[in-house]
Amino acid sequence: MLTDNFNRVHDYLRISLTDKCNLRCTYCNPNDLEKGFFANKPRMTADEIDRIVSVFAGAGIKKIRLTGGEPLIRKDAKEIIQRLSKYPVELAITTNGVFIDEFIETFKEAGLRTVNVSLDSLQKEKYFSITQRDVFERVMKNIHLLLANDFHVKVNVVMIRGVNDNEILDFLNWTKELPVHVRFIEFMPFIGNKWNSEKVVTHQQILDIIASKYNFIKLLNEKNDTQKKYFVPDHKGSFAVISTMSDPFCSGCNRMRLTADGKMYNCLFAKTETDLLTSLRQEKNIKPLIEECVKGKFLMLGGNNEEENWGNQTCESHERSMISIGG
Ligand code: SAM
Repeated sequence: MLTDNFNRVHDYLRISLTDKCNLRCTYCNPNDLEKGFFANKPRMTADEIDRIVSVFAGAGIKKIRLTGGEPLIRKDAKEIIQRLSKYPVELAITTNGVFIDEFIETFKEAGLRTVNVSLDSLQKEKYFSITQRDVFERVMKNIHLLLANDFHVKVNVVMIRGVNDNEILDFLNWTKELPVHVRFIEFMPFIGNKWNSEKVVTHQQILDIIASKYNFIKLLNEKNDTQKKYFVPDHKGSFAVISTMSDPFCSGCNRMRLTADGKMYNCLFAKTETDLLTSLRQEKNIKPLIEECVKGKFLMLGGNNEEENWGNQTCESHERSMISIGG
């Protein structure tokens, strides 16, 4: 078991398969973000991912989520999913949804049943203005395809004031007939994403807007939940808020992250990383490195809250972008 100094058991690994993405979401992968971050860096091969995961699996992890960048743009994404399916862990993926139709059979064969799809607007034009790509209809079609095939579909909506906060009730209305789980995510600061605290729509503000039209009930949180879950009686879907900024959920954190260049992070906001790939390539035992990385985890927010007021920091305090660490 991987336990940190605060007795938190770490059994959930998020793997970024690539830092590249086919979309250009302004808050995540803006056009002016320095490109080629990985140009001269090694990238884990499918075989190396498999070997690293075998060590994590031996250390008792229970869940793996593939993310990125956009995980499904990797040419060997199918091979990776197939190879990871042999481990006794729950396999899940976070994707922008564009290529799901090409992968649905692979998901089924791998027993991957939970798919998080990012969709920040229900309006085609606004979706285009956020992502800079004309793929709204394809993503929508793919959400319906997943539902028709009985997948558990969570829809990630990053809430940005003045951009899509006027669609909160539309998303709620969407869950009336559609069994999707909509997750409103508070906007987080990352390098180059023009974050400021005024753009954050908080958990409470989101609930206040929803309460203006709907009666809703809070669901009990599970131990490691990062989300606060709710449902509106009679709606087929449900909703949740991920309150990283206004009410961080570090006490039950069980997460570790692996970047596409094989660096381990013990927190999304960690300022240090552990190079697993180099050691793996030198045929060294990486288990002690993994254990040490977990032990070095701060109590909260990668230690950032201890230096400054978390809610008022600047995005430049993070050296990597969200797509390079893996969202
Ligand atoms: N390409 C995949 C996708 O679109 O879902 C996976 C990677 S993406 C980085 C993972 C999630 O992080 C997405 O739901 C995205 O909206 C979210 N995200 C990215 N930047 C964010 C930010 N600054 N604040 C909050 N969430 C963010």
